Amino acid sequence: MYGQVLVLNADYSLLNAVTWKRALCLVVKGKADVVKDSEVNVGPFFIPQVIRLLKRVNGIYHRRIAWSRQNVYLRDKYTCQYCGQRVRESRLTLDHVLPKSRGGRNSWTNTVTACFPCNNKKGNRTPDEAAMPLRRSPFQPTVWEFMLARLKKVEPDLLRKAAF
Ligand SMILES: [Zn+2]
Repeated sequence: MYGQVLVLNADYSLLNAVTWKRALCLVVKGKADVVKDSEVNVGPFFIPQVIRLLKRVNGIYHRRIAWSRQNVYLRDKYTCQYCGQRVRESRLTLDHVLPKSRGGRNSWTNTVTACFPCNNKKGNRTPDEAAMPLRRSPFQPTVWEFMLARLKKVEPDLLRKAAF
């Protein structure tokens, strides 16, 4: 069958590639414009080669991602949020900003990626108490951010498992 269709963002920057079915679906639903058609048609429609998302529907990429340890690592780009070092996944730990023992929860805004030494050093303290500032405040990522991470080719294998 026909290959992948390139998806451009509203500003014409490269965003993603999708199957032709998905691309046609976006166009038919009015969520994307066709930038370039192919020579192949399905019923009345030419299969697009390139489509562009309309600005008003960027919201489809604002769907939230489920919390999981792996997804926190991915959000943080496999980088310790205390020392900034990028570490192999097997060497990473999940740190609770407010420690679990003090009521800290498994949530996007209370968990960050940390290397073993930093997690040890922080121990049962908050970043303030430990004088270990976070490089970036933890946040709830969207599909959009995960796609950007993929475009930057961060761990393609894990991204495929990231459930979107
Ligand atoms: Zn560290």
